[in-house]
Amino acid sequence: MAILTVATVSLAAVGDVASSPNEAGPSSAEAFNRWHFSPHPHTMDSKAASFASFQAMLEEEGVAEVVPAWQLWRVDAHYAKRCGTDYFLVPPESRWRQIIPTLRLLRDEVIPVTGPLEVASGYRSPEINDCVNGASRSKHLNFKALDLVATQITGREDIFKKLCILQNQIGRSKSMGLGAFYDPEDTQRGEMGRFHIDVEGYRTWGFDYTSKSNPCPKIL
Ligand SMILES: [Zn+2]
Repeated sequence: MAILTVATVSLAAVGDVASSPNEAGPSSAEAFNRWHFSPHPHTMDSKAASFASFQAMLEEEGVAEVVPAWQLWRVDAHYAKRCGTDYFLVPPESRWRQIIPTLRLLRDEVIPVTGPLEVASGYRSPEINDCVNGASRSKHLNFKALDLVATQITGREDIFKKLCILQNQIGRSKSMGLGAFYDPEDTQRGEMGRFHIDVEGYRTWGFDYTSKSNPCPKIL
């Protein structure tokens, strides 16, 4: 009976994102559904049970509806492909709650400006970070950061302008970190319109991960 309950909860959550732009492929909701019903290879523990606990935690904290919960376990699809890992990853349970402040910021400040968001990259394991030569202090390693794309937006210039204005207004008071992967002088770059959000300190950067490539001064 307990197993049936878990399955129902998880399927309902996955079904919520039927309209996601990433509907097919190894990083899709359907792929997550298959993956999370397969057991951990070594322990045979159920990932579905872990996911149900994770969802329950988000619900308790009032942040279950901010983004589709399953996307929070997405490994960056480019990294997964390059490193030959699964496209999803169960973050260590001790880190689960660390994503809550970022989800609150999305709910209260970011989504009202950008509209609905899709998570492109959530938790990153040390192994994947090594594989892609990621920053050793990346906030993704602690499950404190998300890379996102807006799912209902008219143009990239528009979304980044909104994000830059928001960062000027509340970035300091909310300790918001904004990675804005956009260059108004090279608009072919970063065609996904991807951006990074955390609450680990007020700072803004662009493609080179330093303030030098921050596009906001050029946009505003
Ligand atoms: Zn990021």
